[in-house]
This record gives sequence, C-alpha cells and structure tokens, in this order.
Amino acid sequence: MLVSQILRTKGDLVFTAKPDETVGEVARLLNSRKVGALVVLEGDRVAGIVSERDVVRVVAEGGVAALDQPVSTCMTRDVVYAEPGETVDHLLTRMTDRRFRHLPVCRDERLVGIVSIGDLVKAKISEVEAEADGLKAYIAAS
Ligand code: AMP
Repeated sequence: MLVSQILRTKGDLVFTAKPDETVGEVARLLNSRKVGALVVLEGDRVAGIVSERDVVRVVAEGGVAALDQPVSTCMTRDVVYAEPGETVDHLLTRMTDRRFRHLPVCRDERLVGIVSIGDLVKAKISEVEAEADGLKAYIAAS
C-alpha cells in the first residue's frame, strides 16, 4: 500500500504552527486538534517539526517558564519526509529506525499531508486482513 492511498482516505490537512508561537500555544493546539505533532512553517517553508515529546522535554527541563518560550527553541529542524509514492512498509521501517512517529509528506517540495505511525499501522492491518481473507477464500474454494 502507498502513502498516497492513505492520504486519499484521511485527507491532506496538516496542522501547523509558526516558529514564534509559544510552547504553551503549541501544547494547546496539540490538545485541541488531538494530534501528536505540528509542522512549523516560516511562510511557505518548513522550518521544523514539533511533537508532544518536545513539549514534555522542555517543560521537564525548564519548568512552566518554558511554556513562554518560542517553539523554534525546541522543534526539530532537520525534518525527515515521506513521498506519496512510498510504501507503508518502507515508512514503518524509517520511523522505527529513527524513533519518531510522524512523517510530513512532500511532493515536489510542497507539503501534501502528514502520516503518523497510527495511520501506517492501521493501513498495514487492513492490508494483512485483506490478504488473509483472500487466502481463506482461495483455500475454501480449492
Ligand atoms: P514523535 O515520536 O513523532 O513524537 O517525535 C519524537 C522526536 O522526533 C521529537 O523530537 C520530534 O521533534 C522528532 N520528529 C518527529 N517527527 C519527525 C520527522 N518527521 N523528522 C524529524 N524529526 C521528527
């Protein structure tokens, strides 16, 4: 299964933040949107990604005062992407190796969606179930 097939179902909506938004504002957005990460945009350019893990880290290190600092101080700048034509298996391996759970999807350097490890696992389970059903039907018919 390809990433583009997942995006067709879940849509291309990506929740974003600006680099000067505070960590507190980002925490509120993560909570209200019920997502685990936001892509940080400077104009049209991706400046980084911030996940709930980054928020927990800065608050654990700096206390509540960290909620007032800009998100640019705790985001990851070196963003790893997926492309729409990549397979779910390929991306699950990339996420597991790099130990993160979100991949923004880019086509021709344009942001076209985001997938989480939950999206990929759900797609993988559907694929495996469809294969199992196919095999059962084949065995029953032979
Ligand atoms: P996560 O597991 O996605 O909550 O993120 C764990 C750490 O990896 C955090 O520091 C994130 O900023 C970072 N991170 C998450 N997704 C990516 C990504 N696609 N590229 C680079 N870093 C990421």
